[in-house]
Amino acid sequence: MTATAEAIERGVLGERLWFYSNYHCNLRCSYCLTESAPRVARRELSAETIVAAAEEGAELGFQAFGITGGEPFLREDLTGIIARLAQIAPTLILSNATVFNARRLRELEALEGLPVQVQISLDRPDPDVNDEMRGRGNFAKVVDAIPKLLARGIGVRIATTVDDPATADAVEMERLCELHRSLGVPDCDHVVRPIIRRGRAVAGQLGRGVGFEDFEPELTITADGAFSTPFGPTVTGGRLDTDLLVTRATSPLRRPVDALMRIAGEQSAGADARIGIR
Ligand code: SF4
Repeated sequence: MTATAEAIERGVLGERLWFYSNYHCNLRCSYCLTESAPRVARRELSAETIVAAAEEGAELGFQAFGITGGEPFLREDLTGIIARLAQIAPTLILSNATVFNARRLRELEALEGLPVQVQISLDRPDPDVNDEMRGRGNFAKVVDAIPKLLARGIGVRIATTVDDPATADAVEMERLCELHRSLGVPDCDHVVRPIIRRGRAVAGQLGRGVGFEDFEPELTITADGAFSTPFGPTVTGGRLDTDLLVTRATSPLRRPVDALMRIAGEQSAGADARIGIR
């Protein structure tokens, strides 16, 4: 067993290796961690870089992959990247689910039978309220896309982002759960998480501030370096946040893995009081 696999088994390191495929997005949500929008710097990782790191990650002991952004499905080569990764280990892609046109859905049929899940943002059960934060028409596109993905054998997970899950309106949340169940997504595939005060949420004074100790260490590779969590490589005021940067060097993968294991291993007892967001 490798040192990485041992660290994963002991819970020092998360089992999932994350990639920021790109930073641009067709939406401009008010709490976006990365200040994504259509014309921001793309900061893309090449397909070759992602696949090579995934192969090395699997050899080291990572057991799953994640792809996030920006909106990953804006990339024309994304389906090919997912196919390569999912042949190695289960792969989760975070998406706003507003870009699944007929062509893209046809392409995704190539993934049938592979361990692929798309995590889709859906915040509220009412279209108008949901779209206040995420933009007009978002809700309708999401509820249209979910059954179409499921029909093509793509797993779907729903992520609901609220200011504070502890004080969320229980009646409204139950209506949201009824909605995702009616679309074919069971309760075990619904996560509720708080707004993190990074990126655009800083200007809006939304959510809560966080530090290293709030997250399970999950190695996250970006075009700008390796971070300790997918909530780390955020953009605030147009600048990349580097407080959760582990190393600028990402190749060979061994280097950021070792660096993160060292940092995570130095956390004091009690550092496991995490907010548990995914
Ligand atoms: S929160 Fe997600 S969907 Fe919204 S702008 Fe940011 S990357 Fe795009």
